[in-house]
Amino acid sequence: MVSTEYERRIAARFATFDQDGNGYIDREDFSAAAKALLAEFAVTARSDKGQALYAGAEAFWQGMAGIADRDGDQRITRAEFVTGAVKRLRDNPDGFAEIARPFLHAALAVADPDGDGRLTVSDTARVLRVLRVPESVAEAAADALDADGDGSVAEQDIVPAFARYFTVPE
Ligand code: CA
Ligand code: CA
Repeated sequence: MVSTEYERRIAARFATFDQDGNGYIDREDFSAAAKALLAEFAVTARSDKGQALYAGAEAFWQGMAGIADRDGDQRITRAEFVTGAVKRLRDNPDGFAEIARPFLHAALAVADPDGDGRLTVSDTARVLRVLRVPESVAEAAADALDADGDGSVAEQDIVPAFARYFTVPE
């Protein structure tokens, strides 16, 4: 068995995708993430932002399933994630960013009540924490995104950073 540092890191991301911790990634994990974000920012599921978030979560799930659910049982096991997702994500990280983008865009809209396309550093970290990114990583990542130190982060910088986090950790 070939095991690389990269594969080890990607395997660690499995736990982030497996939001409910039941040992496989499925549609429920994505809808659970959407639900948790709406609860955190007190946005209703029926609102436009809530609907967009659930639609983005479904698209994200479909994209991930297309990459990694090799036996088509609507579950991505750890083995499927490592063997199926690693190669595809490594070969085509932009493709991953594309499948994640609608969800991430909608998630940031949920956390951006005034709709100016910028989040505070603390709200950026909140989004990351709700998505089960470890606390220390979430805060460091949010700080790093605020390159000019003005306390806010532009959405256009957050989406690719999130995609990088899930594909090429650390
Ligand atoms: Ca799960
Ligand atoms: Ca499967």
